[in-house]
Amino acid sequence: MLNRLYLVLALALFISSCSENANTNKDQNADFDRFKNAYIESLWKQAPSWATSLGYHKFDSLLLVPDAAERASDVAFFKSYEDSLKKFDLAQLSASNKIDFNLLQNDFKSEIWALDTCKEWEWNPSVYNISDAFEMVLDSKQSDINARLTSLAKKLKNVSAYYKAAKENIKNPTKEHTDLAVMQNQGCLSVLQQIKDSLSISTLSEDEKKNIQADVDVATAAVNDYIKWLTDLKPTLLTEKTARSFRLGKDLYMSKFNYQMATDYTADEIYKIALQQKDTLHAKMIAISKQLWPTYFKNKPMPTNELDIVRKMIDTLSYQHVNRDSFITAIKTLIPTIVSFINDKKLVYMDPAKPLVVRETPLYMQGVAGASMSSPGPYEQNNNAYYNVTPLNNETPEQAESYLREYNNYLLQILSIHEALPGHYVQLMYSNQSPSIIKSVFGNSTMIEGWAVYSERMMMEEGWGNNDPALWLMYYKWNLRATCNTILDYGVHAQGMTKEEAMDLMVNQAFQQQAEAEGKWRRVQLTSVQLCSYFTGFREIYELRAEIKKRMGDKFDLKAFHEKFLSFGSAPVKDIKRLMLEEVK
Ligand code: ZN
Ligand code: ZN
Repeated sequence: MLNRLYLVLALALFISSCSENANTNKDQNADFDRFKNAYIESLWKQAPSWATSLGYHKFDSLLLVPDAAERASDVAFFKSYEDSLKKFDLAQLSASNKIDFNLLQNDFKSEIWALDTCKEWEWNPSVYNISDAFEMVLDSKQSDINARLTSLAKKLKNVSAYYKAAKENIKNPTKEHTDLAVMQNQGCLSVLQQIKDSLSISTLSEDEKKNIQADVDVATAAVNDYIKWLTDLKPTLLTEKTARSFRLGKDLYMSKFNYQMATDYTADEIYKIALQQKDTLHAKMIAISKQLWPTYFKNKPMPTNELDIVRKMIDTLSYQHVNRDSFITAIKTLIPTIVSFINDKKLVYMDPAKPLVVRETPLYMQGVAGASMSSPGPYEQNNNAYYNVTPLNNETPEQAESYLREYNNYLLQILSIHEALPGHYVQLMYSNQSPSIIKSVFGNSTMIEGWAVYSERMMMEEGWGNNDPALWLMYYKWNLRATCNTILDYGVHAQGMTKEEAMDLMVNQAFQQQAEAEGKWRRVQLTSVQLCSYFTGFREIYELRAEIKKRMGDKFDLKAFHEKFLSFGSAPVKDIKRLMLEEVK
């Protein structure tokens, strides 16, 4: 605790010397760069598991006890840095530093809000879980097994205090997060067992090994005790009418949305725009489905309900899918054709020296079928970025068929545009070219997801798939999902939308499979706001492009727009917007 206080004080001194520089009108950017680096270094000590997760291993041996003193220390830490920011004059900073300044300011406020106002530490028992903190150190490839076990040995000493603090913190948990915590904390037990298992391959002394073994047993007992304590709570939660609802409530939701999305829109506004967008998409989907109907159904009469026409068309088109053995091959074949299209149409420059690697999802990441991008963290930028595709090895024939219908020949294209090119992968390449530790750590997920969703639309508009109406229909279905994610999230957390209403939205109005909709219902009970990032970011980027097009007229160049937009790194769209519009008055 003393150490940390010393750090904050030292920093306060450092900052006050910066402000003298400001008075002499010296360029503040060098000082701001030093400030950022000093902040990040002290942040890692304040949040060691976060550091480990980003590939920074200096504080691997720390496991902080989440008690009241630790929270007070966190609040003081962020408040002191928030104060320090005031010493800088935003107007004097470079474009990149302006964005970093805003990202930091938003983060400080958001952290303080989370601790003092949202108080998830009081009602979400699943925030207490040691799995990641231990597993990330155990799996780290940056040091040998003896060094890793030595770090883990120090961490183990705090596990009992960690769960004791957890029990003291929890006041009025939700039933849903309690269930989640019980389930997820079971995972700690196997991580602890892995620590024991790996003792056999280490060359630590017998005494050291015995000590670790004993501490693993104590830690295991602490995890089991926490699970039992939560399980005993559950019957009361089920009957207690005053038990906290999983719904965040409108006030907390509006604030969380502001911090996390970092957009000029309020949650209310985005929700209303999403409702309109749903109607617009329905109209387009109905028109295409009516147009396609005779080709697929000849003289068979169309259903009277227009959304049923759409559903029948989507179901029929979904039968066009690859077979389960060629799922990865299909994606590997698709990527080069996407690359050529982007180059031929001059949509965005891509460095040919850094080709995308498509691979089977590594075993330790498998579990749910799907595709994802693996991007190297800020401390491991020399690692490759991978497009992970999970082979359909473990699914039953029915599960595989349902998955392949969802990711049919049409959606496979949209998925690859989103995950890889020109979606997440291209954004990541540009973001790595404007290195800023602040942007890598506090990167704005609304911009990142918004860019991927924008890429899909942009590729379609530029003629990907030769304007095939069937592909457009599937694209609209995909876009409707992002749109309805927003309606669902806001509806559930701010408006009390019931499960029946939510299922109707997803299944009947967004054409999702029952299983997919059930999964989404579960997700929306356990998380909030994140589901809005896709639609919000997309909308902001699309509007920014329209504004710049309007201002530039004939001089507008799509490739230049994309490259300029991406050059700012993973920054909130509203910040990029201000900087870009300044240049085209
Ligand atoms: Zn099939
Ligand atoms: Zn994405």
